[in-house]
Amino acid sequence: MTIYNLGSINIDHVYRLPALPRAGETLHARSHALGLGGKGANQSVAAARAGASVVHLGAMGMGDDWVLERLAAAGVQTGGILRLPEVATGHAIILVDADGENSIVLHGGANLALPPELAERADFRPGDILLMQNETSLQAKTAALARKAGARVIYSAAPFSIAALREVLPQVSILAVNAIEARDTFAALGEDLPVEALLITRGADGAEFRDLRGGQVWRQPAFAVQAVDTTGAGDCFAGWFAAGLARGEDPPTALRHAAAAAALQVTRRGAGDAMPDRAEVLAFLKARG
Ligand code: ADP
Repeated sequence: MTIYNLGSINIDHVYRLPALPRAGETLHARSHALGLGGKGANQSVAAARAGASVVHLGAMGMGDDWVLERLAAAGVQTGGILRLPEVATGHAIILVDADGENSIVLHGGANLALPPELAERADFRPGDILLMQNETSLQAKTAALARKAGARVIYSAAPFSIAALREVLPQVSILAVNAIEARDTFAALGEDLPVEALLITRGADGAEFRDLRGGQVWRQPAFAVQAVDTTGAGDCFAGWFAAGLARGEDPPTALRHAAAAAALQVTRRGAGDAMPDRAEVLAFLKARG
């Protein structure tokens, strides 16, 4: 089974400063670090490191080849990533002050300029999975193609937008949300959603998978770890969970592996670069009994 991921690719520029600049102020940063981010790229890396066959569908500007190399090094198939002239690769300017407080400027760039023909790059087959998040254009069209071909669509409703969710919901098989997104979804649409299943993650309080057709609910506690950076935890969880389903795991097994992967991921700095691989996750689970 192939996992296609219609997803954002962002370059995270992290600047550490003594204080966040005020309007009109210019400050020297103490340091600068470049990282791979974007919910899409994070989920692709997570699923590929989990051992799945992952084809990323997305776009970048013309430079920044290291991003493609890093995705490929993680095992992600990059043939579905288009290079668009005159558009910047999506990026985030992340300013962090001495207390860890941050200000972020996000530019969607190529992620929001996906050409319609990109959706046709995917050769969806029954049983394949399409992952999507709300950081790219072309969500509804790609989801419709996937469902028509018999693939399942796993949609992370993040960043949360009720309009975007309403548009894709008829094509969604599994809706993935964190606690805040779940609250906003239920407030707008109720809990009886027209999807097969719901995946709800609740940070250090764990996760649950609700089969809305059969009525079964599986709960997975979070593993106790010393978290240093929870950026990308939900993407790690979603990517690992999708990889579990793609390899035929039942929901409790996929949940357990995803929780272990996300626990490891939050003990490291970074997002996409912090995703653990299968050997690390199996070793972690063995150590935890
Ligand atoms: P998001 O990043 O989308 O807000 P969550 O915060 O719900 O997602 O985290 C996703 C999953 O990552 C959780 O269900 C849990 O398994 C794991 N996780 C997140 N924070 C922690 C933590 N502090 N300790 C252990 N696991 C965590």
